[in-house]
Amino acid sequence: MEKILKGYVFRPYPTEKLKINEMVQNKNLSKKIYDASWYELIRQLEYKSKCKNKKFYQIETYYPSSQICNRCGYQEKKIKDLSIREWECPSCTNNNERDIMLFIQVST
Ligand SMILES: [Zn+2]
Repeated sequence: MEKILKGYVFRPYPTEKLKINEMVQNKNLSKKIYDASWYELIRQLEYKSKCKNKKFYQIETYYPSSQICNRCGYQEKKIKDLSIREWECPSCTNNNERDIMLFIQVST
């Protein structure tokens, strides 16, 4: 899936299907969401992926990536708060960091 060209590695860029209309109803996040222009970012990623003949895919909106242990697959349903950035798996004691977990799960 990877392609090395002139020293750069090109990989597909998975994204999450976002329900932006629902997300902007959160007053704490709405300004940041509008400022980020997420819709345009996703549109550009899809467009550029097609231009480079790369796979473009989106993860389902409510896929529980932050709850699933990267080592053993155990799902910790208590992890719902965005402020929890990492947790230890009660099944295998693996330390799961939210951003890294998502990257590993959508890249495999
Ligand atoms: Zn685990």
